[in-house]
Amino acid sequence: MSIQGHCNCGSVRVTLPDQPASSLICFCLNFRRAGGVLASLNYTLAKSTAIVSDSKSVLKRYHDSNTDSGNTIIRNFCGNCGSSVMTEVPLHPEALIVKASLFDHIAPPNQEAFAEKKMDWAKGIAIEKPSEQAFE
Ligand SMILES: [Zn+2]
Repeated sequence: MSIQGHCNCGSVRVTLPDQPASSLICFCLNFRRAGGVLASLNYTLAKSTAIVSDSKSVLKRYHDSNTDSGNTIIRNFCGNCGSSVMTEVPLHPEALIVKASLFDHIAPPNQEAFAEKKMDWAKGIAIEKPSEQAFE
Protein backbone atom coordinates (compact mmCIF):
# COMPACT_ATOMS: atom_id res chain seq x y z
CA MET A 1 0.00 0.00 0.00
CA SER A 2 1.39 3.38 -0.93
CA ILE A 3 2.31 5.91 1.72
CA GLN A 4 2.37 9.67 1.48
CA GLY A 5 4.46 12.16 3.39
CA HIS A 6 4.51 15.92 3.27
CA CYS A 7 6.36 19.01 4.39
CA ASN A 8 5.04 21.04 7.32
CA CYS A 9 2.90 23.34 5.17
CA GLY A 10 1.67 20.52 2.91
CA SER A 11 2.82 22.16 -0.32
CA VAL A 12 5.22 19.33 -1.16
CA ARG A 13 4.04 15.74 -1.01
CA VAL A 14 6.00 12.56 -1.62
CA THR A 15 4.29 9.27 -2.38
CA LEU A 16 6.13 5.95 -2.12
CA PRO A 17 4.72 2.67 -3.42
CA ASP A 18 5.15 0.89 -0.07
CA GLN A 19 6.27 1.55 3.49
CA PRO A 20 10.05 1.04 3.39
CA ALA A 21 11.21 -1.73 5.73
CA SER A 22 14.17 0.21 6.98
CA SER A 23 15.84 3.59 6.89
CA LEU A 24 19.34 5.01 6.80
CA ILE A 25 20.55 7.17 9.65
CA CYS A 26 23.13 9.73 8.63
CA PHE A 27 25.26 11.70 11.06
CA CYS A 28 27.00 13.99 8.57
CA LEU A 29 27.31 17.62 9.55
CA ASN A 30 25.43 18.93 6.53
CA PHE A 31 22.37 16.77 7.15
CA ARG A 32 22.40 18.10 10.69
CA ARG A 33 22.47 21.65 9.44
CA ALA A 34 19.70 20.86 6.99
CA GLY A 35 17.40 20.13 9.89
CA GLY A 36 18.32 16.69 11.20
CA VAL A 37 19.97 18.29 14.28
CA LEU A 38 21.45 15.06 15.70
CA ALA A 39 21.10 12.87 12.64
CA SER A 40 18.92 12.50 9.60
CA LEU A 41 16.69 9.52 8.85
CA ASN A 42 16.30 8.79 5.17
CA TYR A 43 14.86 6.34 2.70
CA THR A 44 17.25 5.61 -0.15
CA LEU A 45 15.15 4.65 -3.13
CA ALA A 46 15.11 4.30 -6.88
CA LYS A 47 14.10 7.76 -8.12
CA SER A 48 11.53 6.18 -10.42
CA THR A 49 9.54 4.82 -7.46
CA ALA A 50 8.85 8.15 -5.73
CA ILE A 51 6.15 10.58 -6.85
CA VAL A 52 6.93 14.14 -5.79
CA SER A 53 4.05 16.61 -5.93
CA ASP A 54 4.86 20.31 -5.81
CA SER A 55 1.65 21.92 -7.01
CA LYS A 56 2.64 25.40 -5.76
CA SER A 57 6.17 25.20 -7.24
CA VAL A 58 7.76 25.95 -3.87
CA LEU A 59 10.45 23.26 -3.96
CA LYS A 60 13.92 24.81 -3.79
CA ARG A 61 17.17 23.12 -4.74
CA TYR A 62 20.53 23.76 -3.12
CA HIS A 63 23.69 22.37 -4.73
CA ASP A 64 25.75 21.43 -1.66
CA SER A 65 29.39 20.90 -2.57
CA ASN A 66 30.80 21.33 0.94
CA THR A 67 29.93 17.80 2.04
CA ASP A 68 31.78 15.35 4.27
CA SER A 69 32.19 13.02 1.27
CA GLY A 70 33.42 15.79 -1.00
CA ASN A 71 30.69 14.99 -3.53
CA THR A 72 28.15 17.56 -4.59
CA ILE A 73 24.60 16.65 -3.67
CA ILE A 74 21.38 18.52 -4.35
CA ARG A 75 19.25 19.25 -1.32
CA ASN A 76 15.57 19.86 -1.98
CA PHE A 77 13.50 21.70 0.59
CA CYS A 78 10.18 23.46 0.77
CA GLY A 79 10.69 27.15 0.03
CA ASN A 80 7.54 27.95 1.98
CA CYS A 81 8.02 26.16 5.32
CA GLY A 82 11.68 25.08 5.12
CA SER A 83 11.16 21.33 5.58
CA SER A 84 13.88 19.15 4.08
CA VAL A 85 12.28 16.95 1.42
CA MET A 86 14.89 14.93 -0.44
CA THR A 87 18.46 14.80 -1.67
CA GLU A 88 19.68 13.96 -5.14
CA VAL A 89 23.14 12.53 -5.70
CA PRO A 90 24.45 13.40 -9.18
CA LEU A 91 26.90 10.47 -8.99
CA HIS A 92 23.87 8.20 -8.64
CA PRO A 93 21.16 9.87 -10.74
CA GLU A 94 18.91 6.82 -10.48
CA ALA A 95 18.74 7.17 -6.70
CA LEU A 96 16.79 9.47 -4.44
CA ILE A 97 17.24 10.08 -0.73
CA VAL A 98 13.86 10.98 0.74
CA LYS A 99 13.59 12.43 4.23
CA ALA A 100 11.84 9.87 6.42
CA SER A 101 10.70 12.76 8.61
CA LEU A 102 8.05 13.62 5.99
CA PHE A 103 6.09 10.52 6.96
CA ASP A 104 4.06 9.84 10.08
CA HIS A 105 5.73 6.43 10.58
CA ILE A 106 9.49 6.03 10.22
CA ALA A 107 11.00 2.60 9.67
CA PRO A 108 13.91 1.77 12.00
CA PRO A 109 17.39 2.36 10.60
CA ASN A 110 19.46 -0.60 9.47
CA GLN A 111 22.19 1.44 7.84
CA GLU A 112 24.21 4.34 9.12
CA ALA A 113 26.46 6.82 7.40
CA PHE A 114 29.18 9.05 8.79
CA ALA A 115 28.93 7.44 12.24
CA GLU A 116 32.33 8.96 13.02
CA LYS A 117 30.60 12.35 13.05
CA LYS A 118 28.41 11.47 16.03
CA MET A 119 28.85 13.80 18.93
CA ASP A 120 30.37 12.09 21.99
CA TRP A 121 27.16 12.37 23.98
CA ALA A 122 25.27 10.66 21.13
CA LYS A 123 27.55 7.59 20.84
CA GLY A 124 24.87 5.49 22.52
CA ILE A 125 22.69 5.91 19.49
CA ALA A 126 23.61 2.94 17.39
CA ILE A 127 21.90 0.39 15.25
CA GLU A 128 22.49 -3.27 15.89
CA LYS A 129 24.01 -4.35 12.61
CA PRO A 130 25.08 -1.40 10.49
CA SER A 131 25.62 -2.18 6.84
CA GLU A 132 27.88 -0.48 4.37
CA GLN A 133 27.24 3.17 3.72
CA ALA A 134 24.51 3.45 1.14
CA PHE A 135 25.98 6.54 -0.45
CA GLU A 136 28.81 8.97 -0.13
ZN1 LIG B 1 6.20 23.26 3.08
